[in-house]
Amino acid sequence: MPENTTLQRVAIVTGAARGIGAATAVRLARDGFAVAVFDLDEAAGARTVETIEKEGGRALAVGCDVSDADQVEAGVARAAAELGAPAALVNNAGILRDNLIFKMTPQEFDAVIGVHLRGAFLMAKACQTYMVDARWGRIVNMSSAAALGNRGQSNYSSAKAGLQALTKTLAIELGPFGVTSNCVAPGFIATEMTEATAERMGITFEEFTDRYARSIPVRRGGRPEDIAQAVSFFAREEAGFVSGQVLYVAGGPKG
Ligand code: NAP
Repeated sequence: MPENTTLQRVAIVTGAARGIGAATAVRLARDGFAVAVFDLDEAAGARTVETIEKEGGRALAVGCDVSDADQVEAGVARAAAELGAPAALVNNAGILRDNLIFKMTPQEFDAVIGVHLRGAFLMAKACQTYMVDARWGRIVNMSSAAALGNRGQSNYSSAKAGLQALTKTLAIELGPFGVTSNCVAPGFIATEMTEATAERMGITFEEFTDRYARSIPVRRGGRPEDIAQAVSFFAREEAGFVSGQVLYVAGGPKG
């Protein structure tokens, strides 16, 4: 990455106020990107921005609900105006509304599809125009080991499997313009999202983490930084021949 900031590439990371998104934003800033920290609430992104700026990077917090087409248009336009044209996009924002199929409401199904899948579509649509103009771009979508199916997650698993199909389709459509599209599919990662799952299950987070760690080959829970470094690989200049791929980062082959 050139040191001259006028040539600095810009990355947008959604859901970057905390967890995997925050770690990814910080990592991409260390890699040389200026980073737009998208999250529902602009104030919530301030901590990530502060971390990046303390390390000498450039960042901007943008409040944006990725499932809302108007907010996505406005948010991406603001990032482009204040930081520069987006060259990399990480679709990471996500929510859970777990329930067994007989109890899941259509609203719970739609909410999850709306943030993960519709959100990724809207963000990619808004950003690709800048990437195609520049003949360079990197799109990384956050799937999950749950894409292979998971009890109580018919909404989430469908969204995460859908993201893999979206990734491959974007790779085909945008490849001729220098834009790659790839997917990272994490297994269990310690974040507020998984803390909330442990609470719902009525067990401590420590117990939840231990149970998972014992079930996978590397025998430890994942950390946000484990995922950030996989995203970092796909976003690199040198990864330009890698596209349409799904990388499971799950401490073993099954997640
Ligand atoms: P997290 O701690 O819950 O963080 C998700 C962030 O996304 C939050 O800051 C949240 O904001 C934001 N967000 C939610 N809805 C949004 C919307 N409509 N627009 C913009 N931002 C929104 O989750 P995480 O564990 O870091 O997970 C990040 C991604 O990795 C998700 O896509 C998740 O499905 C995926 N993943 C996680 C794991 C895991 O084990 N943690 C495993 C596989 C995949 P609020 O706080 O305001 O809701």
